[in-house]
Amino acid sequence: ILDISKIEAGKYELVEDKYELPSLLNDVGNVISVRVQETNARFIMEIDKTLPKLLIGDAVRVRQILLNILGNAAKFTKRGSITLVATWNHDESEPIISFDVKDTGIGIKPEHMESIFGEFNQVDTRKNRNIQGTGLGLAISKHLAELMGGTITVDSVYGQGSTFYIQIVQKVKNYQAIGE
Ligand code: ADP
Repeated sequence: ILDISKIEAGKYELVEDKYELPSLLNDVGNVISVRVQETNARFIMEIDKTLPKLLIGDAVRVRQILLNILGNAAKFTKRGSITLVATWNHDESEPIISFDVKDTGIGIKPEHMESIFGEFNQVDTRKNRNIQGTGLGLAISKHLAELMGGTITVDSVYGQGSTFYIQIVQKVKNYQAIGE
């Protein structure tokens, strides 16, 4: 089990291997669809068809980041929509992959925008681990994204919704588009 203290001590290492982006997105999409079906919201995926099909990176951790952020969106959105937008910067060797997760949920108060990534919420994360099933909170997801040369940021209007911006750097061997 991944421990935030390991990451903070610099002891956590990513395990990189080849993986197929479409199957990762399908898998994450299926898990989230089931959760969103229990609400009155819709789940929408907008995948850039030029994204590389085969990536090199830590697919397990990429999946966990997406499930954490999308799981939160599903948890805090009772109506409207949750949208996952996947794009990239078209660098065919070391692409920056962007996942924007937009929701029309409860939103986040301006004074909480920074603390949701911080220490205090790690306590909440532990408490919610079994309910969420991912075992990863925002603090851990952000650390993981940073280990991948990226980051996670957020924009929100309290009462209207939030958008989490996930960026990670992956590698590509022989570029082939998802859509081909
Ligand atoms: P938790 O397991 O409590 O969701 P996280 O670290 O994933 O832990 O999230 C920390 C807190 O950030 C949440 O408890 C919630 O208050 C807030 N939050 C996260 N995502 C959203 C969202 N999409 N909409 C509103 N609030 C959110």
